[in-house]
Amino acid sequence: MTIISGKEVAAKLKQDIGAEVAEMVAKGIRRPYLVAVLVGNDGASQTYVGHKEKACHEVGFESKVVRMDESTTEEELLKVIDSLNKDPEVDGFIVQLPLPKHISEQKVIEAISPLKDVDGFNPENVGRMISGLDAYIPATPDGIMELLKYYQIETKGKHCVVVGRSNIVGRPIANLLSMKGYPGDCTVTICHSRTANLKEVVRQGDIVIAAIGQAEFVTADMIKEGAVVIDVGITRVPSDKTKSGFKLLGDVKYDEVAPKCSYITPVPGGVGPMTIISLMKNTLKAAKRRM
Ligand code: NDP
Repeated sequence: MTIISGKEVAAKLKQDIGAEVAEMVAKGIRRPYLVAVLVGNDGASQTYVGHKEKACHEVGFESKVVRMDESTTEEELLKVIDSLNKDPEVDGFIVQLPLPKHISEQKVIEAISPLKDVDGFNPENVGRMISGLDAYIPATPDGIMELLKYYQIETKGKHCVVVGRSNIVGRPIANLLSMKGYPGDCTVTICHSRTANLKEVVRQGDIVIAAIGQAEFVTADMIKEGAVVIDVGITRVPSDKTKSGFKLLGDVKYDEVAPKCSYITPVPGGVGPMTIISLMKNTLKAAKRRM
């Protein structure tokens, strides 16, 4: 059994991106510039945006966080998005989700220019991705593809079972793995909360991707011997063994599932570190549009 180290892969990709930025700068080209818009005081969102800012710094990007009050109206946010769309200095930007309830996330996603949509959530990018065209791929699925590539995991002809059908993880990764080429050429099944005989379906997976959001949901009896297991889930649970008073659990019951696997991602240190790197990849790609 091999433990897939997202930390190791992310560190390698971070180095590669940093080297490309250094090359750009040496040629007199402006550094990539990423802006994050953060509305309200959601603790997890503040942490995620902090990590993104830190990663930008590490790879040599310019970055800025636009902080807006919880009471910001949809109209005010759409105005900010419009100005970021028009700002020639800004290569790409994200609006950190979730947004306060009185703002329509869908309207916001659709207002972001597809050319600067480095989260890859705008329907134009989604449509392009599904059509196999050049697009910004959402960060988490892209991170999973990078892990499969790095570990040279065979995907051709494999049955991939994805549990979860969200627009940010389940659907896009299912789509990408069904595409022609590597990593892809899988036969894909998508499961969700209405799937009948879920255990039996998941047990058929040569590759199982769990993106559910329920701690330790996937147990050993759901996994076929030798399967590749990618655990996307992150759930914070109280713990008296850590300084912070909590620990992170994945969607997979790691201790009992790992011995059955050929490859498995741990939580933390698996998919998580890859998500931020893929956002950096997309921002670099956005910056290259002006080269
Ligand atoms: P969503 O809540 O948007 O989607 C969860 C999906 O799981 C839904 O499709 C839901 O089905 C399905 N589901 C829920 N319960 C069950 C069940 N009992 N049986 C089968 N399917 C079920 O979550 P996300 O996709 O946004 O995130 C999933 C997890 O991944 C979360 O823990 C999140 O924190 C984590 N995450 C981690 C990232 C990382 O960087 N590592 C990045 C993004 C997310 P239905 O559609 O029927 O409701």
